[in-house]
Amino acid sequence: MLINVANVSKSYPQPLLATPPAAIEDISFSIREGEFVCILGPSGCGKSTLLNLLAGFMTPDQGSIEFGGQKVTGPGPERGVVFQEATLFPWLNIRRNIELGLKATGIAKGHQQQLIDEALAMVDLHCSQQSYPHQLSGGMKQRVALARVLALQPQLLLMDEPFSALDAETRERLQDQLLNICAQKRQTVLFVTHSVEEAAYLADRVLIMGAPPASLFNEVEIQRSQPRTRNAKELTMTILRLRTLLKELSRHIPEPYQQAAV
Ligand code: ADP
Repeated sequence: MLINVANVSKSYPQPLLATPPAAIEDISFSIREGEFVCILGPSGCGKSTLLNLLAGFMTPDQGSIEFGGQKVTGPGPERGVVFQEATLFPWLNIRRNIELGLKATGIAKGHQQQLIDEALAMVDLHCSQQSYPHQLSGGMKQRVALARVLALQPQLLLMDEPFSALDAETRERLQDQLLNICAQKRQTVLFVTHSVEEAAYLADRVLIMGAPPASLFNEVEIQRSQPRTRNAKELTMTILRLRTLLKELSRHIPEPYQQAAV
């Protein structure tokens, strides 16, 4: 297993509460190398908390997270993160934005340029590499953010609702581009989304979280014919199945949390 999450709980300090409620509680799962796993759940259920713990931006209150057999104690280049909004440096062109992440790695300059070229090609932005962020559409900015992470050749790609701010057509195009990249590189991905359709289309396996404290977990392995198509009956069936499981989970929400449910 590339990732092992065992009995992880996390709460955020709250000024008026001695024992703040858990954002996530007693969560356990594993991810194999090359798998595309989606974390699906309603807003506020703890998806980003889980992703931030895996990224090493914070540590669990209880439980452990292991990556490649080593305990995660902080961020690292082997775990690349793409957020909902691309945070690019406006005064640097696309190529320089990607280069910036590589500078601290100690990789030889020539090899850095090769990695940038490969990353630009993967997201199909080679022709726009001299453009500046203000000249780019939202979708292009997200592709730069993805290229910046891919250039670092992470073993795990952590993606936190990366396409949710995009229009439907751009979102579908980027989903397909991501799937192509994953097929080429056998990239392991943990992808957070609240969209049932997105999870059903992208994932090999979907982990469903209920409303907080999200310890209620359901898991759906998706067997499908390749290549994926959006109109396939099997995709519709998967969407229905995920919707049903999500509904079942929200039926089990403890009283104090019921307002948070969708
Ligand atoms: P999701 O990504 O599913 O929308 P989050 O992980 O962002 O959920 O949030 C889970 C819970 O933790 C929510 O109740 C949220 O209000 C709370 N939370 C998240 N971040 C913080 C924070 N920095 N401080 C306090 N509470 C937080």
